[in-house]
Amino acid sequence: MAARASRNLLPLSRSLATVAEAPVVARPTFRDGDVRTNWRRSEIQKIFDAPLLDTIFRAANVHRMHHDPSRVQLCTLMNIKTGGCTEDCKYCSQSSSYKTSTKASRLVDIEPVLEAARTAKANGSTRFCMGAAWRDLAGKKSGFEKILKMVSEVRGMGMEVCTTLGMLSPDQARRLKEAGLSAYNHNLDTSREFYPEVITTRSYDERISTIEAVRAAGISVCSGGILGLGEQDEDRVGLIHEVSRLTEHPESFPVNTLVPIPGTPLEDNKPVGVHTVLRTVATARIVLPKTIIRLAAGRHTFSETEQAMAFMAGANAIFTGETMLTTPCSGWDEDKSMLGRWGLRGQRSFEDHEVDGHVPEVESAVQAKRQEAVA
Ligand code: SF4
Repeated sequence: MAARASRNLLPLSRSLATVAEAPVVARPTFRDGDVRTNWRRSEIQKIFDAPLLDTIFRAANVHRMHHDPSRVQLCTLMNIKTGGCTEDCKYCSQSSSYKTSTKASRLVDIEPVLEAARTAKANGSTRFCMGAAWRDLAGKKSGFEKILKMVSEVRGMGMEVCTTLGMLSPDQARRLKEAGLSAYNHNLDTSREFYPEVITTRSYDERISTIEAVRAAGISVCSGGILGLGEQDEDRVGLIHEVSRLTEHPESFPVNTLVPIPGTPLEDNKPVGVHTVLRTVATARIVLPKTIIRLAAGRHTFSETEQAMAFMAGANAIFTGETMLTTPCSGWDEDKSMLGRWGLRGQRSFEDHEVDGHVPEVESAVQAKRQEAVA
């Protein structure tokens, strides 16, 4: 036994030499503000679980590296085709699987959409989003042509244009891009594991395929989630992890909170607490440093101070207008007054668009602040 053990032992001098000669594998080091697509889920969970004010402080610093913290983008969402959707999203009043008060209607005409976009622009919104309640564009040839026209007309007003039209093929994405579409919304909603608890008529990977088609067509991706579906913190982290590992981070990450709709399976869900919203916003800001974090459905349920905390945590866009799809929304006047009280203002259209990976306005502002600090 002793002889066998001694055969396995290297002489001490040789063993030290082996250690000394072993190639040193440099561990990558990352700093806050770096754009990474290699986040580990455990790293994100650690950020999410840290004391909330520490996470918000860290997020506020990251926010200032890539964005002008005094600017908040105002965007308005219009439903261009309501109800009668064949998908079974358990939170949605527009699914034909549930009996809700939402009545199905046909795709709206072009002129009312343009009128709504003009009103939104006159009130300070710089992004106009159009949503249609359906699974995809299959069999909707003339409807699609109408939507392409809406896109090019709204884009012609100098606004950013976003649509959310369900699943897209690469060819449909290309045509939307040619019409002038700036962004496409396609939420992943929650973590991959929890997704089948909420929707059974499509898969997570189908969502990702559409996101990839959108990205490949050169359209910005808007993809986020909904809090309050019955998910756990791990699912909120799972969602952020999933979008952080896309080929590129989404340009926009909407954070919705469930507005329970009578008649849907989630009608009795308890509202999600503001601390969970703030944790999610701050974590998303740290993990997705350049992304616009968009406070979406359910914002009207939070007080002004709670919303201001979300801006501190890195949120920098809000939906504003009369309604948000089928749920209530804070109005323009109310929102502009609120932003004014906190020293915030609306963002100009395309203001944060990058030139060769840089955001000139933000970088020059950061540079000026550094020089001030040195002086
Ligand atoms: S969320 Fe969209 S896809 Fe899901 S049921 Fe509602 S309208 Fe249809």
